[in-house]
Amino acid sequence: MLRLSAFRISHFLPSLLLLLAGLAAAYVRDLNVFFTSLFNVLPTLVLLLGGAYCAVYRRQRELFLMVTVYIAYFLLDTQTDFYRDNGRVREDAAVVFHLCCLLLPVLFGLFGAWQERTHLFQDMVARFAVLLAVGSTALGLEQSFPVPLLNWLAEIRWPSLHGQWMSLIQLAYPMFFLAFLLLVVQYLREPRPLHAAQVVGLTGLFWMLPKTFILPFTLNIMCSQVMLMIAAAVAHEAYQMAFRDELTGLPGRRALNERMQRLGRNYVLAMTDVDHFKKFNDTHGHDVGDQVLRLVASKLGKVTGGGRAYRYGGEEFALVFAGKTMEECMPHLEAIREVIANYSIQLRNPENRPQDDKQGRQRRSGPGASAVSVTISIGVAERLVDHRTPEQVLKSADEALYSAKGAGRNCVMGYGQNRRGAVRNAAA
Ligand code: GH3
Ligand code: MG
Ligand code: MG
Repeated sequence: MLRLSAFRISHFLPSLLLLLAGLAAAYVRDLNVFFTSLFNVLPTLVLLLGGAYCAVYRRQRELFLMVTVYIAYFLLDTQTDFYRDNGRVREDAAVVFHLCCLLLPVLFGLFGAWQERTHLFQDMVARFAVLLAVGSTALGLEQSFPVPLLNWLAEIRWPSLHGQWMSLIQLAYPMFFLAFLLLVVQYLREPRPLHAAQVVGLTGLFWMLPKTFILPFTLNIMCSQVMLMIAAAVAHEAYQMAFRDELTGLPGRRALNERMQRLGRNYVLAMTDVDHFKKFNDTHGHDVGDQVLRLVASKLGKVTGGGRAYRYGGEEFALVFAGKTMEECMPHLEAIREVIANYSIQLRNPENRPQDDKQGRQRRSGPGASAVSVTISIGVAERLVDHRTPEQVLKSADEALYSAKGAGRNCVMGYGQNRRGAVRNAAA
């Protein structure tokens, strides 16, 4: 399923910044010795560091993407070095350049869209076999039939479509277009930093190729940037895995622990728990329970008053209000409790057959079989003289939550408030 709404600018930001930095660096004239030496070693350095990094995380796909870019860089760099030293291109420059323009988008698109499914070792062997087969076929053809191959590559197949601006062989354009389409669709189906980096990386390569012999160091800079984009995406995903909760997309417990170390002098912590959720799961099934948790999380994520939501664990969420007092937070917490209690959740797949007959009967006989609702209870605590550490404040919020459950659920209870102080929704 393509989800345009899943597009996140944060997925693209690191790659776009690297792309812009690459474009800016490529246009700098009169580089000093430091930068010329740096750009000469940069692609190899990035491959070694980025490759080792991918290997540690067992990311074969990213490793092969980097290797593909590096091979193209290596082949073209040999040509540009010769051109710079001798003032003319090597005999095989045209055929090598055209082959790179054709095969780089093909292999980049292929390795980018080829998801790791099988056993890691088999996966690596299969990727290596493809790379070897394509590489050796290209090399064999280039060595045996250089002139016919060059003519075939350079042939203008669609004269009516040929524009003055086309500085690559015609065949390269459909290849780049197909690879781009494939990678964009992949991003929309599964939006994640790596898929975004691949789209931006391919764009960078498309920009780079026509300027290979024109702008000095474009090749070194852009190939390094594209490899960096991929390495940065691996780091971004590793960070997400550690700090984000997969089910709800909210930051997880580890992120909360980190945030709690950086809270200032005044802050409020709230613990939120879904009411009777075990029963809800028993009645509607665990998959519906998951859908509801996602929805509750998305509502809590939009809490007003400067609050930030975290999934604490299970059906419990923590809300952090930095620089706030309990009095300031109460109306916002009350509002979010009410939003959730009043929300009628349409089940995405009501026809989904339950696991057993008992569940099925309960679901079919339940009022509004395709719409459900849940309530939450909230316990709140703020930093006080005798509650100095965030851990102590969180413990107090948990105690307040316990009181909220005791007060009949679907309410907000502040630490130190008594039963009657609880804000109840009269309609509940
Ligand atoms: P209370 O109102 O007292 O909080 O009752 P409760 O049933 O919600 O409390 P309890 O803590 O006993 O139950 C929590 C339930 O939440 C147990 C478990 O089935 C469910 N749960 C925890 N994590 C998940 C999850 O990730 N997905 C689903 N579907 N259910 C979960
Ligand atoms: Mg619980
Ligand atoms: Mg609960």
